[in-house]
Amino acid sequence: MHIGLPKEIKVKENRVALTPGGVATLVRRGHTVSVQRTAGVGSGIQDTEYEQAGAKMVDTAAEAWAAEMVVKVKEPVASEYGFLRPDLLLFTYLHLAADKPLTEALIQAGTTGIAYETVQAEDGSLPLLTPMSEVAGRLSVQAGAYHLQKPVGGRGVLLGGVPGVQPGHVTIIGGGVVGTNAAKMAMGLGAKVTILDVSQRRLAYLDDVFFGKITTMMSSEANLRALLPDTDLLIGGVLIPGAKAPHLVTRDMLKLMPEGSVIVDVAVDQGGCVETIHATTHDDPTYVVDGIVHYGVANMPGAVPRTSTFALTNQTLPYALMLADQGVAALKKSEALRLGLNTCQGKVTYPGVAEAFDMPY
Ligand code: NAD
Repeated sequence: MHIGLPKEIKVKENRVALTPGGVATLVRRGHTVSVQRTAGVGSGIQDTEYEQAGAKMVDTAAEAWAAEMVVKVKEPVASEYGFLRPDLLLFTYLHLAADKPLTEALIQAGTTGIAYETVQAEDGSLPLLTPMSEVAGRLSVQAGAYHLQKPVGGRGVLLGGVPGVQPGHVTIIGGGVVGTNAAKMAMGLGAKVTILDVSQRRLAYLDDVFFGKITTMMSSEANLRALLPDTDLLIGGVLIPGAKAPHLVTRDMLKLMPEGSVIVDVAVDQGGCVETIHATTHDDPTYVVDGIVHYGVANMPGAVPRTSTFALTNQTLPYALMLADQGVAALKKSEALRLGLNTCQGKVTYPGVAEAFDMPY
């Protein structure tokens, strides 16, 4: 198959959908990969590395998009809609339920769109979302530790403490992928860590894997209220699939927290689990409400594009290989990939997207 790798053009997007290793794997399987020049530079990958991997380097986006299958990171932006066509297989994050113009463009063009975010494994997990939650979870502690510093408006607490001085306390709401990765980092820094979740099974798992070195608590308003006066860094990592995050920390609860303490609400992309959170950018990541520093960057992995590129492509490559080897027939063999199908032959093929726009499904 002929596969195209265009350069991402969405503002501040520095990731790329295939690494040189991924290109080499596809080429070894007999596929042709057209890589747009400089596609990898934002992730520290040079054109020469793709060339050595066997890619055909092309100068323009149009040449990369001319392939039978295009692999990308972000959804196409309006200036890319013209590249969509009926015989194109597009494999990327699409997030169509939040993007009517793109949904209509894919339908009009008749493009087969397979969305990373709805590829679903047998156990119900979303393998192509997981790596970005891992990155965001780990980053949340780095970001929180930085913003706890006095010169940037924080409380002036060092999370690890020092001998003779108690460490900072990190409270994490949601013990899923984000929460577990945040806990690892916080524990590694020497902080005191408490995780709250509504799933007893999840709490038991966390208690096992962290060997009792973190505290687990059932998520409830009463438990949260009890924890907030002793919390330096609060991390939000709640997810209720397909729904907005519940506001578990209301504005009146902020006054329970010490002044200068920090909230990093990773769930901000689903509305956040803190009432006072709103989405911010890497350029201006924080704001203060009632003396509490709020960090609400909605695309945290964008801060570490090199790590994010390798983390994402580790997971996407096996699926990209199936599609390259078998074309759309791969959807018949892999239920996970079939669940990723969002548009096909001018129709929406994913219920959540059809419902969002009241379209036939
Ligand atoms: P996940 O499904 O692995 O974990 C969510 C956890 O929340 C589950 O363990 C669930 O039991 C728990 N939960 C549900 N309701 C709860 C409640 N009331 N109190 C406490 N816990 C509750 O999800 P994840 O992959 O960890 O993602 C978490 C959030 O982070 C999602 O909204 C995701 O979109 C977001 N995210 C944001 C970024 C970013 O850059 N801001 C990046 C990646 C993921």
